[in-house]
Amino acid sequence: MRLVLSDILEGAGFSVEAVDTVAAARARIAAAAFDLVISDKNLPDGSGLDLARDRGAFAGDAEFILMTSDASVDSAVQAIQLDIADYLLKPFEPVDVLLARVRKVLTVGDLKRSRRDLVRELREKNEYLESMVVRDVLTGLFNHAYLQDVLERELRRSQRYGFSTALALIDIDHFKRVNDTHGHEMGDKLIRVVGGLLAGTCRTSDASFRVSGQEVAGRFGPDVLALILPETSKSGGAVLAERMRSLVEGYDFAAEGLPSATISIGVAAFPEDASSRVELIAAADGALEMAKQAGRNRMFAFGPGIAAAGREQRAQLETELAMLAALDRSMSARSFRYVYQPIVDAVSTEIVAYEALCRPTDPAFPSPLDLIGTAERSGRISELGKILRELAVAPLPQLEEPALLFLNIHPLELTESLLDETESLVLPWARRIVLEVTENTAIKSSARIRAILSTLKSRGFRIALDDLGAGYASLNSLALLEPDFVKLDMEMLRGIHSNSRSARLIKHILEFAREEGMTVVAEGIETAEERDVVRSLGCHLLQGYLFSRPEAPFSRLVGGRS
Ligand code: C2E
Ligand code: CA
Ligand code: CA
Repeated sequence: MRLVLSDILEGAGFSVEAVDTVAAARARIAAAAFDLVISDKNLPDGSGLDLARDRGAFAGDAEFILMTSDASVDSAVQAIQLDIADYLLKPFEPVDVLLARVRKVLTVGDLKRSRRDLVRELREKNEYLESMVVRDVLTGLFNHAYLQDVLERELRRSQRYGFSTALALIDIDHFKRVNDTHGHEMGDKLIRVVGGLLAGTCRTSDASFRVSGQEVAGRFGPDVLALILPETSKSGGAVLAERMRSLVEGYDFAAEGLPSATISIGVAAFPEDASSRVELIAAADGALEMAKQAGRNRMFAFGPGIAAAGREQRAQLETELAMLAALDRSMSARSFRYVYQPIVDAVSTEIVAYEALCRPTDPAFPSPLDLIGTAERSGRISELGKILRELAVAPLPQLEEPALLFLNIHPLELTESLLDETESLVLPWARRIVLEVTENTAIKSSARIRAILSTLKSRGFRIALDDLGAGYASLNSLALLEPDFVKLDMEMLRGIHSNSRSARLIKHILEFAREEGMTVVAEGIETAEERDVVRSLGCHLLQGYLFSRPEAPFSRLVGGRS
């Protein structure tokens, strides 16, 4: 039968090798890559089925045809299980049928091979592309663009099949501090390790947080990681996120040479909390913000309370962005005005000085504090201060002797460069100028600040300590700074009556000030009662709406006499 079959196949143009035992077949097939093996089921030293079973050891990936005389269901099932391409019945089928079967099997084999090659090629290309396009270069985690893609895809699947997708946004607490104190390399490594923990690719002894492999973790922002949880409800996501938080909290970062770290997490789900990808991200971000505000190292899932807060935050964010733009505009166009509020003698109510107060003309800044705050957040305080001072002191030549001009100096401006600037700009007028600094200025860096202030004093400037009694008041700075003036914060004056604690405190301050030769200014006097109380306590100078609002340069109209 072997010889007959070989003849038929060779006659049809195939090249054929024939052997007569399983052992001999094995040896040949292991050595050379055949396209097709045809074997009888029963051979002298074993079964053709064993040969089929061993195909893993074949050199090539040959197709297999089994020859059998019994076409039972049993052997058909076996043939299928062993992925045998076809079987031939003994004695032979008509030659053309036999050849047709062989050719068909070979064609299928070719197709399979080429598809396999194609798939391998595609996979290699994909891996390459993936490494190029979807990975964050620094950390090797999936990048923002890829996470957005996955999220979009998962939301579409959610929509089609009716399940939820949860999103967790993860912030490494005080990440900036790690970067600042340990360097960016350390920061990147920390992100990599935390990201690895989230993705389940980092070794850890803690088994409580285990990802199923469906989740996609990656780097969503500079210090924000994201975990996309397909087919997960919000509550399910929250449970997993909380485990994730505690895993990171308990993780031994020191073992990897890293500072310890915690994470804050916000969780939201589609479609419960959001109807689009953008909304889902905003919801998770709102929850994350809450987690941070609640003190960090926390997990928050989105809720109706957060919805409101989230909206406010977005509005807040927009306002801040608008202010940043307005700061640029205003600084280049010098869109600031100055108004001057009289400071009067407590007894005679004669004007003895004016405080220069800034009025930004850009409507993005309803109050000067918005302007100052924006400059603070964008690190441009000194730059702004320089512009502002030039405008503030411009009308100095019109200021009648012996009136003084009080100028607000931001704590961040008390540097050497202020010394340089004032030397050229203001020096001829130094003895007419009082620089107002706030109390906490002094507490922060007293030695350096005092050195700068004393240089300013030696040049003729006088110093006022502003807002005494506001916030975390410490009378310490009074002694440390030795200012020429002390300005009592208006909060201390509100609702003051002669026996209140504020009144007693003011009395003590006045006593101390008198001994030290300091002049005390009471700020924010709005009513005649307030005026009378501080006057009777012995305040030297008064300032407030009762006398005059801040107005165009050096207005001389002062009310509140009597
Ligand atoms: P501040 O230095 O404590 O200035 C006093 C504030 O109290 C001013 O608010 C003034 O208009 C307000 N005021 C005066 N009298 C009364 C009163 O009787 N009742 C009430 N309720 N308020 C009174 P303004 O002008 O809105 O300035 C707010 C803050 O902005 C200032 O507080 C100061 O910290 C800052 N600022 C204003 N101009 C400048 C500036 O040119 N440079 C710097 N660095 N800060 C400035
Ligand atoms: Ca002031
Ligand atoms: Ca003040």
